[in-house]
Amino acid sequence: MHEAPYDIAIVGCGPAGLAAALALHRDGHRITLFERFAEPRPLGSGLMLQPSGMAVLHRLGVAHEVAKRGARIDALFGLNEHGRIALDAPYSSLGIKDAFGLGIHRASLFSVLFDAVQIVALPILTGHEVKSSHSTTVGRVLEFADGSRSRPFDLVVDASGWGTQIEAGKNHGLLPFGALWASLPVGENDSFARNLLEQRYRRASQMVGVLPIGSRGANDPDEVAFFWSLRRADHEKWRASALDQWKEEVLSLWPQVEFLLDRIDSHDDLTFARYAHRTAKRVQGKRLIRIGDAWHSASPQLGQGANMALLDAWGLALGLREGRTLDEGLRLASAWRGDHVAIYRFVTAAFTPMFQSEASLWPLLRDRVLAPLSRTGPIAALQARLMSGLFGWPLAQLGLELPEYSEMASSIATRASSLSQ
Ligand SMILES: Cc1cc2nc3c(=O)[nH]c(=O)nc-3n(C[C@H](O)[C@H](O)[C@H](O)COP(=O)(O)OP(=O)(O)OC[C@H]3O[C@@H](n4cnc5c(N)ncnc54)[C@H](O)[C@@H]3O)c2cc1C
Repeated sequence: MHEAPYDIAIVGCGPAGLAAALALHRDGHRITLFERFAEPRPLGSGLMLQPSGMAVLHRLGVAHEVAKRGARIDALFGLNEHGRIALDAPYSSLGIKDAFGLGIHRASLFSVLFDAVQIVALPILTGHEVKSSHSTTVGRVLEFADGSRSRPFDLVVDASGWGTQIEAGKNHGLLPFGALWASLPVGENDSFARNLLEQRYRRASQMVGVLPIGSRGANDPDEVAFFWSLRRADHEKWRASALDQWKEEVLSLWPQVEFLLDRIDSHDDLTFARYAHRTAKRVQGKRLIRIGDAWHSASPQLGQGANMALLDAWGLALGLREGRTLDEGLRLASAWRGDHVAIYRFVTAAFTPMFQSEASLWPLLRDRVLAPLSRTGPIAALQARLMSGLFGWPLAQLGLELPEYSEMASSIATRASSLSQ
């Protein structure tokens, strides 16, 4: 006998929490969202939505709305300090007609999902920082930073990101490198590749990148996410140093980004993002499941985190639909996602030293072996599959399909037309 529908608490209004709220609400569950901020808001600059994540947004009915605000990305492209190709990964190698990635401002993804949650009037309790949670005979209770408690829920979904405090250990797996990020406005006359995520590397210890991220609204300018990798330990030193000195360092690696640097006036225009590589010891507990970064987080080298979070959210809804009991539903959800999560955890850990580390051998391997190999037929296809989030066939077992790319392309046609490459 089916126990559903359930009374579900979702902790966190990031992509995982909002997508799970939408999918679970549609299946008739009673949803309450908890968010630590007084106003739900996204942090940071841009991200890449891959075909895997777009498949979930498509099923949630918001893919076109998201696409309209994003920028079509046809390839990832990077050169090393000697002008040698270090990364060349076109989506065309996927062999899926018209497939592309979508560069988008976090705020755009957030606002589309948040609006959809508001349309169906799901309760969002803001200013509720969840400190811990425990299971009672009648359900799972949340404990908040101010000492108050929630009512018992049938299920708590931990979507509170990599810093989760719910039954989490102390090890957040912070990586030595993070990055400075800024969203910068661009105009028609600016010369840069509007369909590429482009990067420049000096070995693996320096990286500068530009990702077109579309426009946040009809009256807003197009923007790019600009990023510069930096060791966590050097962040304070960077803040204390002259901005022009840093700009010179960036320009020595990629002179063509001068027009972007001119739009950065102070250190405060850049936000430092820390990266963590961790996987929760337990994905599920009694009346508890983790999704998104609360389950697994990694450095964004492969651009998968938000996409994996969306897949987790969809997998959870499907698990609860198929499972006869809550426990069975949770087991199904984590089992369907487990292999894909493990593959990307491994691959991201393997790739990170090639793009962000002090190592000298790894970047050499990247430029001399991997990059040339990855431009040959089968390896190019494998690379494109990995980048698209489709390696390990995550869609089929979740009953998902890729969206119709030619239709989506027309949603963003206005921006995608003026390609400089
Ligand atoms: C600089 C950078 C670039 C990235 N680029 C990409 C990319 O190109 N592609 C990609 O797919 N991914 C990328 N990622 C990763 C991606 O951002 C994350 O994987 C994704 O946001 C995870 O979504 P989430 O909903 O699980 O967690 P989050 O987005 O972290 O959301 C967690 C939510 O929970 C709330 N919260 C946290 N703690 C509590 C608490 N105790 N109580 C209540 N609420 C709480 C937070 O305020 C937040 O709203 C990038 C990450 C960084 C840092």
